[in-house]
Amino acid sequence: MQINVSQLLQESIGAVRDYEINEAADITGDGKDDNIRGECRLLRTQRSILVKCRLRAEVELGCSRCLSRFRQPLKIKFEEEYFPTVDIESGVPLPPPEEASNFTIDEHHVLDTTEAVRQYALLAVPMKPLCRPDCAGLCPRCGQNLNHGPCGCPAADIDPRWSALTKL
Ligand SMILES: [Zn+2]
Ligand SMILES: [Zn+2]
Repeated sequence: MQINVSQLLQESIGAVRDYEINEAADITGDGKDDNIRGECRLLRTQRSILVKCRLRAEVELGCSRCLSRFRQPLKIKFEEEYFPTVDIESGVPLPPPEEASNFTIDEHHVLDTTEAVRQYALLAVPMKPLCRPDCAGLCPRCGQNLNHGPCGCPAADIDPRWSALTKL
């Protein structure tokens, strides 16, 4: 999302703007656009524009157990300060923000949330995605997806440490 904030930068501290977000962006880098929806609020602070977003997106992931592709909903919530790079009144370049990790507003007063949305969305992606909590995974012998039903392989070999118990 790109927003021209030249107006907001000229307003007094505490001024806010609300934006509805509904756009497509490739979050996971798989070449497919994911839809992102939600709200962002921009707040003029003394030194910056504070951006608060609550967004939802859905990305396509591969299940870590059965390897099938599935849609995973994500909740993306963040708060970031965006620092102006030029003075809104004089046009004079401003020193960069103290922390290099901070986001900036470009010299045309355009605030771009794309990178923040991407970073926070990636944080929301589970480390070991599952197509469903009880995913049965793949048969270790024949590789069939056991979510589609049993494969007909003989039951897994019983751990020899348990075999004595099964005789009881
Ligand atoms: Zn699965
Ligand atoms: Zn099998």
